[in-house]
Amino acid sequence: MKRTKIIDLLAAQPGSEVCAKGWVRSHRGSKNVDFIALNDGSTIKNIQVVADAAKFDEELLKLITTGACLSVEGQLVESVGSGQAVEIQATAIEVLGTCGADYPMQKKGQSFEYMRQHAHMRLRTNTFGAIMRIRHNMAMAIHTYFHDHGFFYFHTPLITASDCEGAGNMFQVTTKNLYDLQKDENGQITYDDDFFGTQTALTVSGQLEGELGATALGQIYTFGPTFRAENSNTPRHLAEFWMIEPEMAFYDKQDLMDLEEDFIKYCVRWALDNCKDDLEFLNKMIDKTLIERLEGVLKESFVRLPYTEGINILQEAIKNGKKFEFPCNWGDDLASEHERYLVEEHFKKPVIMTDYPKEIKAFYMKLNDDGKTMQGTDVLFPAIGEIIGGSVREESYDKLMAEINRRGMDTTTLWWYLDTRRWGSCPHAGFGLGFERLILFVTGMQNIRDVIPFPRTPKNAAF
Ligand code: ATP
Ligand code: MN
Repeated sequence: MKRTKIIDLLAAQPGSEVCAKGWVRSHRGSKNVDFIALNDGSTIKNIQVVADAAKFDEELLKLITTGACLSVEGQLVESVGSGQAVEIQATAIEVLGTCGADYPMQKKGQSFEYMRQHAHMRLRTNTFGAIMRIRHNMAMAIHTYFHDHGFFYFHTPLITASDCEGAGNMFQVTTKNLYDLQKDENGQITYDDDFFGTQTALTVSGQLEGELGATALGQIYTFGPTFRAENSNTPRHLAEFWMIEPEMAFYDKQDLMDLEEDFIKYCVRWALDNCKDDLEFLNKMIDKTLIERLEGVLKESFVRLPYTEGINILQEAIKNGKKFEFPCNWGDDLASEHERYLVEEHFKKPVIMTDYPKEIKAFYMKLNDDGKTMQGTDVLFPAIGEIIGGSVREESYDKLMAEINRRGMDTTTLWWYLDTRRWGSCPHAGFGLGFERLILFVTGMQNIRDVIPFPRTPKNAAF
């Protein structure tokens, strides 16, 4: 018999013969009848399988342990007690895969750290099932949003010869024999005999190539893996994460902020509309204020706050007795405690912070007329801190070169980027959204390692 997914069975009318396949969540037997909760990953909900003990071999029923994989045939009938409308009255049960008592996801209530050590099996738990379904839905939301708004999905390379923007330390890519590294007379490693004939690394951002796309196609977005060898063991940083980077010709700062806000709200609304069961589960088990917080974001207009005003607010707070670990004088890069104070305590809503001192931002950002600040537009979120880093790009060749020279940057690997400003340069802007930071927000999870199937962090590349 053809298998039906549990999500479809739960919505079906009782009365027909059905086949379900999935993994046992629980099995309890009374004298005459066994109840098996079966889940196949199509939904957070289980289907209840009812088996009359008299009709099944005792030895078979013993094999139906938590985690075992079953194929069940039977009648879909109205359910009285299972909390669902229907259940399966089993006529045949086949154990496809047994599962012994050493199954690591056996017990309920294991710590997240324990789950990380068993990341290959944690996907079978309710929590990780919910997170992964939401992750999928967010990817669909992102593609749908951009497609519907006339953006083209643009693929930028993962292997790069340019240190993009110094956004983070890079992982080198080489086919050289590390056991027998040749060096020149100055002790420098030579790369002419390496695979690409030059030093290469995994990209920290697709933005620079994204700008090439936007200044030809008008509006593009990237959605792909990004690599940063940052040795920061925080709950918000991964060494391999997914980034969404839209880049738009003819956008100014106002257009950019409007897009950032509209886009994030669209994603959050998509989650509320399409992931109801999973969100309700997470709201119950992980974070009781999750759904309220998601709905709250949709109601609020994001605050648009120049950096200088933000510093004033923080200084005022310090005067009134607020204690921060790190300093926040004009010119300092804000620490996450400062961002969270502004978002969670002062405004109590998301903040788009703008016009940062040029010393703390990347070279490509558009310089304001004051000569001191740049047109950055980062979005700061409750519980997360920075979720988007964005900016208007400097379109003037002379101003961009002046900034590059001021920073003493080497332009030999950036010549192609500079050509955008030489030929048909145009005002443009873009941003980068960390996919996992969005998933953190939407799921209410606390640690970024728990919103990607197989996290890559310092000293951890297992699975
Ligand atoms: P942070 O200050 O939080 O390290 P950043 O300023 O380095 O972030 P950008 O270079 O602007 O971040 O990158 C754009 C977005 O990518 C960030 O807003 C964030 O959502 C995400 N991001 C950056 N670094 C990481 C990381 N290591 N792991 C996961 N997401 C990241
Ligand atoms: Mn960073």
